[in-house]
Amino acid sequence: MPAAEVGLLDPGQVAESFGVLPTLAPVAAQLLRLADDERASLDDIARVISRDPALAAQLLRVANSALFGMATTTTSLTRAASILGLRTVKLLSLSFSVVTRPDGSDPGATLVWRHTLVTSAMARVISTRLAPRLADECFAAGLLGNLGRLALAEYGAYARAAHGDPVWLEPEDELAAVGCTSDEVTARVLAGWGLPGVLGDAIRHRCDPAVVSGPTATIATVLAVASSAARLVIADPAHAGAALQAYRRMAGRHLALTEKESEALLVEAAPTLEEIAAMFRSENPHDVPIDLLLLRAKDSLARLSLATVAALSSEERRALMLESENRRLAEQATTDTLTALPNRRAFEDFMTQALAERGRRDVPGVVGLLMIDLDHFKSINDVHGHRIGDAVLRLMGAMLALHTRQEELSARIGGEEFAVVLPVTDPRSVSLAAERFRNAIAGEPLDTPAGPLRVTASVGGAWLDDGAPHAARRLYDAADVALRTAKLMGRNRAITVRVE
Ligand code: GH3
Ligand code: MG
Ligand code: MG
Repeated sequence: MPAAEVGLLDPGQVAESFGVLPTLAPVAAQLLRLADDERASLDDIARVISRDPALAAQLLRVANSALFGMATTTTSLTRAASILGLRTVKLLSLSFSVVTRPDGSDPGATLVWRHTLVTSAMARVISTRLAPRLADECFAAGLLGNLGRLALAEYGAYARAAHGDPVWLEPEDELAAVGCTSDEVTARVLAGWGLPGVLGDAIRHRCDPAVVSGPTATIATVLAVASSAARLVIADPAHAGAALQAYRRMAGRHLALTEKESEALLVEAAPTLEEIAAMFRSENPHDVPIDLLLLRAKDSLARLSLATVAALSSEERRALMLESENRRLAEQATTDTLTALPNRRAFEDFMTQALAERGRRDVPGVVGLLMIDLDHFKSINDVHGHRIGDAVLRLMGAMLALHTRQEELSARIGGEEFAVVLPVTDPRSVSLAAERFRNAIAGEPLDTPAGPLRVTASVGGAWLDDGAPHAARRLYDAADVALRTAKLMGRNRAITVRVE
């Protein structure tokens, strides 16, 4: 508990006096370090997790849950870590070690907990549609996003302003009551723990996702819609109508959904919500079926004054829809439909930009490129058929996305050819990354509908340290030559060269 009641709070001070919430568990801290270490293997990760039996059990539950679409049950931590991927394991174990279910004695905390579960479920469902590569970040942001509310709830002025319902406090109410927002506090706490800045930034900007860009904006947007859906699901009758209206507006603005579609999305999310509640051994946060809940909310909305409903003019509505439709089309044009990875066009744009950026900087550094080509892929099609070949490509896409770091870009650039761009790196890291991807692919069989299939890939890496003319072509050609050399030398190997 903070020592004294303070009028206006400094968010850093709240983050520091975080006695009310658990500090980062030692296991989570160790995982955070391991997941950033090139040399760490899945076995190392599994060993660390096994030191915390509760966390180990929870990760196994996740790996076996429908959320991750496993065909078979696994009881091995190494296998669970490989199914989930390092990035997911890192994010989930961090979330699991700090997000704990309240004991039920504090109604405010229970409400925040229910809001948290629904937000993370909705964030997961929305992101698998909108930005599959960021699904884990979105899920983790949903789980972690309310930490600041819990911290602030300890301050009397905040609790009084919230009237026991902290999820209904808007940022401006929070500012008026205590001088800082709970999202700002959350972001500072996450930064203090050394979490990727993108999570904190996304949470900080969930109310104004338009002021940020890139993955931060995507996560912030998903979180914005997910939080508004969560408010609706947990709303009491007094709030239900307004909550439905707010959710429809958010889903329309950010996801280009009609009212009907936004309701369908909620219904679609119900099984995921049950999965997540089960993961935390918690009861389902909505005690009535979602469609009944929607009916009640609609009824309540109908009784709200027409003036509020009409607040958004049809022109405004159309302009907003148009804007999000344009965004959706732009995203479609740069995404590969089979794997949901960025496509060749997105890859070329990204590489051009990385090289231009390189040319502008006068600090040392190189741009790296990896070309990854599956070995003997034709024989997978020949033996198992094209459908299984497609499934292998999809699983490869997911695997690459999981092993791709925030600043990197993985793309599908041809049939069974993928590329990874490392925009700001050094020569040693390019060869390490080439080996990291080769090893990740060869390490575990892929769980295809035809059973586990072991695939390998050859990787050609190249790097260059200038942004001179034809840099993109030279880099691409060099990586291609390295790839063909890797094939000639027997496949399942990585070769990296410097561009002359
Ligand atoms: P190597 O080790 O030399 O790379 O052998 P490979 O068999 O992988 O290479 P090759 O280039 O001969 O064959 C690539 C195959 O990939 C041929 C093509 O039918 C298949 N392919 C390309 N795109 C797709 C796709 O979208 N789906 C499926 N199922 N197969 C594809
Ligand atoms: Mg090929
Ligand atoms: Mg091939």
